[in-house]
Amino acid sequence: MSMFKDIPVEVGVIFEGERIRRNDMQVELGGPKVDQKFEIAKVKPMDQIEDGKVVIVGPDLKDLKEGGEYPLGILIEAAGAQLDPGLEGVIERRLHGYLNYIEGFMHLNQRYDIQIRLGKKSFQKGLNTFEIIGKVLYRLFKNELPIIEKLQITFITDISKIGSLYTDALASYEARDAKARGLKDNEVPEFYGCVLCQSFAPSHVCVITPQRYSNCGAISWHDGKASASIDPKGPIFAIPRGDVINEEKGEFSGVNEAAKKRSMGEVTKVWLYTAFDHPHTSCGCFEAVTFYIPEVDGFGIVHRTFKGVTVNGLPFSTLADSTAGGRQIDGFHGMSLEYMRSSKFFAADGGWNRVVWVPKEVKEKVKDFIPKDIIGKIATEDDAKGIDDLKTFLKEKNHPIVAKWTTEEAPATEAETEATPVMTASTLPISAGGFKIILTDAKIYASKVVIKKDESKTEKR
Ligand code: SF4
Repeated sequence: MSMFKDIPVEVGVIFEGERIRRNDMQVELGGPKVDQKFEIAKVKPMDQIEDGKVVIVGPDLKDLKEGGEYPLGILIEAAGAQLDPGLEGVIERRLHGYLNYIEGFMHLNQRYDIQIRLGKKSFQKGLNTFEIIGKVLYRLFKNELPIIEKLQITFITDISKIGSLYTDALASYEARDAKARGLKDNEVPEFYGCVLCQSFAPSHVCVITPQRYSNCGAISWHDGKASASIDPKGPIFAIPRGDVINEEKGEFSGVNEAAKKRSMGEVTKVWLYTAFDHPHTSCGCFEAVTFYIPEVDGFGIVHRTFKGVTVNGLPFSTLADSTAGGRQIDGFHGMSLEYMRSSKFFAADGGWNRVVWVPKEVKEKVKDFIPKDIIGKIATEDDAKGIDDLKTFLKEKNHPIVAKWTTEEAPATEAETEATPVMTASTLPISAGGFKIILTDAKIYASKVVIKKDESKTEKR
């Protein structure tokens, strides 16, 4: 049932998580093929905002060719006696939820990396102008965040106007992130959780701490605090830290309890500073994926906008599919780029000493936070295109991981061989006899593993 009678499509939480496939889309706004796209919120003085105004700069939805991909900037300008710029990140991230409430309108990712699709059916029903999208956003923002007293929304599709606004937006994101650096996890009594992405990943709960930015890179600990205080019943909530169970791995009793409650029992244990055993869950709008490379016992990292394949031969999309959906996958981790600037970045796994391959664009972005003695020893796509290249590079540079190989390459004793599991998983679902069995903290041992193609299934297709 639609919330608004004068809007030609339905609007409601029921549409969150709706996927629009390429064949069903009228247009795509932003997305991987468009270089400059953004969404940003700005808090302004009252007299600079015309309440309810929607501005469209450039071609409107009805002017865009069916099936095309176009640049888009969304500028939300808000004013209110209690509003301050510290709330800009919170207001901005609400776009993800509110735009997804609109039937046939899909919003993915965040900040400089948005990907939006309008479905053909909704377009045909009359959702053919940004004016309507603006009207819906205006009402949802005003209803759900009464602290906003005045709001105006601008949609920019004119490519000649996007460039300078895009540059300004990038500077604003960086200023926000820089402000959030410095505070330590053990200096605060509370962390914050976010379940905004559960519409796409039902068991996902972001745990946002001073030293672990949200997966999307759009919500800092300060943003979490601000959001929970202005909208305590909203998707962002306080998590009392509780007892420290394991300081090295980043296990806290309060985090385990919150993850269990908010994931409906699916996730019972979260280790914040490691990619192994009980890593943080990964939703789908993370900025980058960390992937374990067993051949060198190190981590590769790839960001969403990386074009081509990584050092293990897989593109971002395949690696993202392997970790997304709210799961905890041993050795895989969806994360923000800002987490790479934290001193808790995979601290339990060796931190930067465990990283062996990173795209040069990412390396450049976080170079000031990589220890000086390791930065030249981490390969990029220019140094290694495959695992053999990577091994050669790491040996030549004497990357710290190479010292570990020497130990591990020593002939294993019989006892050691027997103790190596063929598979480990924090939760492993198995279906048998009509029952779903979930093994927790499973380690599976086998003297021999045989993988066979199921010919009967192949024939049926
Ligand atoms: S990635 Fe995490 S913090 Fe960001 S919107 Fe999704 S659940 Fe919230």
